[in-house]
Amino acid sequence: MSLLVVGSVAFDSVKTPFGEAEEILGGSATYFSTAASYFTEVNLVAVVGEDFPSQHVNFLKSRGINTDGLEKQDGKTFRWKGEYGYQLNEAQTLETHLNVFESFKPLLPQSYRDSEGVFLANINPELQTDVLNQVTSPKIIACDTMNFWISGKRDALLKTLEHVDILIINDGEARQLAMEANLVKAARIIRSYGPKHLIIKRGEYGALMFNSQSIFAAPAYPLENVFDPTGAGDSFAGGFMGYLLNTRNFSESNMRQAVIFGSVMASFVVEDFSLNRIKTLDYNEIHNRYREFKQLTHFEESAEIFRQ
Ligand code: AMP
Repeated sequence: MSLLVVGSVAFDSVKTPFGEAEEILGGSATYFSTAASYFTEVNLVAVVGEDFPSQHVNFLKSRGINTDGLEKQDGKTFRWKGEYGYQLNEAQTLETHLNVFESFKPLLPQSYRDSEGVFLANINPELQTDVLNQVTSPKIIACDTMNFWISGKRDALLKTLEHVDILIINDGEARQLAMEANLVKAARIIRSYGPKHLIIKRGEYGALMFNSQSIFAAPAYPLENVFDPTGAGDSFAGGFMGYLLNTRNFSESNMRQAVIFGSVMASFVVEDFSLNRIKTLDYNEIHNRYREFKQLTHFEESAEIFRQ
């Protein structure tokens, strides 16, 4: 099943307590499509400037990602600069230069319109709705957003959410969107906006998935070396959606497995800058880490230990 993603392709400059890197390949759609490419066919929709080297496009193609929808426009590629302190959960944005992204109007190539899965990465919610209007009969639609749109384009965002099956956001965004500090209550409020499923990412504390039947909690992989958290959220979404589309099964239990595959991809990406760690994974590495997750969370039914 093919999976459409619309989002940013970027040059990132990132500083963490462990090192820094300038103008490295990044962007929500880049991380998402690379992670998803281990599971399913990906149709990428994004815009870059004239300064975007063919070597990066060739990398995406080498992962089997369809780049027909990657537009090249006059001007410069989107740039983001961020910094993390020892508390690696949240980036401090230092600079955002929209450049060609500012006037981006996503137009889907004809061959993308019958994509069965859609991921609306973190972009202007008006553009997210434009993209939804161009796909013919998607079976599953997931979406991300950020504080900037929650406060600046709330009405447009609520309109997008009416058509979304799965919203994947972090805990701060969930609280802000629901205007509610308690995450369980926030989840109920957000699901009343449209998404049947809500996944709340909590960085090193893992992820929670809410739907009408249950709450599922997944830990984050306890890594000894977290180098750069950039892209963890998008790689999580890529692994999650990639697995769902690969298995064509949107049941509760399969979604739980998808959350673990998302967590696996996120755990790899944070081990190095940019896409360096997830560029050349092999399926055994992915599967082995999935099994380690299973082991990590396995425990037995309680014995009869209670006294009258
Ligand atoms: P995350 O998975 O949340 O760490 O996303 C990181 C990626 O988001 C970086 O590679 C940035 O290039 C990209 N990014 C940061 N700010 C924006 C924005 N305002 N719009 C689109 N993409 C962004």
